[in-house]
Amino acid sequence: MPEKKTKTKTKAKKSSAGKKRLRPSVKIILAVLAVLILVFAGIRIYRWNAQRGDSRVIVLVNPWNTVDNSDFTPSLQTVDGVQVDKSCAGELEKLLADCRAAGVSIKLSAGYRSAEEQLQVFEDEVSRQMQSGYSADTAYAMAEQNVGASGTSEHELGLAVDVEGEAAQGWMQENAWRYGFILRYPEGSEAVTGRSADSAHFRYVGLTAAEQINSLGITLEEYMGMFYTQDAEVEVTN
Ligand SMILES: [Zn+2]
Repeated sequence: MPEKKTKTKTKAKKSSAGKKRLRPSVKIILAVLAVLILVFAGIRIYRWNAQRGDSRVIVLVNPWNTVDNSDFTPSLQTVDGVQVDKSCAGELEKLLADCRAAGVSIKLSAGYRSAEEQLQVFEDEVSRQMQSGYSADTAYAMAEQNVGASGTSEHELGLAVDVEGEAAQGWMQENAWRYGFILRYPEGSEAVTGRSADSAHFRYVGLTAAEQINSLGITLEEYMGMFYTQDAEVEVTN
């Protein structure tokens, strides 16, 4: 091993010979640092912006985050035959009116569900799958993915609606974000959301978050920075 006796001397020499100009490697490091600081500040501002005014409705409910833990209590109002939380009622009314004005017929087939109603929907789905020949275990797992067990459905928040019909769903995919709604379970997001793709289910997250989620093409889980929380198994059976 070489000895380090001469270290102090070398250092002194170097500093005396030091120029005011920065070496290219230092410049690169400073540039990288500046970019990192800007990116970090950008993300902070972005997040702050995203939460502004909409924080109450940015609630995550999925197989790993139950309604009980959401701290969200819906205050219900009827829109077009279904109940929804009052936070999204006004935008939902506008959405329905604009969709119809565009010549697309739209009907809501589900809104708020109580825990008991969700349990019923879940049990019906289990029976349906068993009738088509699946074992009880498989049917149960499929129902969890297709409709969600009681306590894990956004319908229990009053912040989600199901839309009937292909034309209306297509219009919603294009335009729902303008009213604060997102397609909650897009194709290919099954492992992140824990739910099967569903072209009928739209979730209210507020105008700002919906616009950002839509333009980034991400899920609510990803939006909330929960990329690595998916410990539960997502079993896709067919
Ligand atoms: Zn739904």
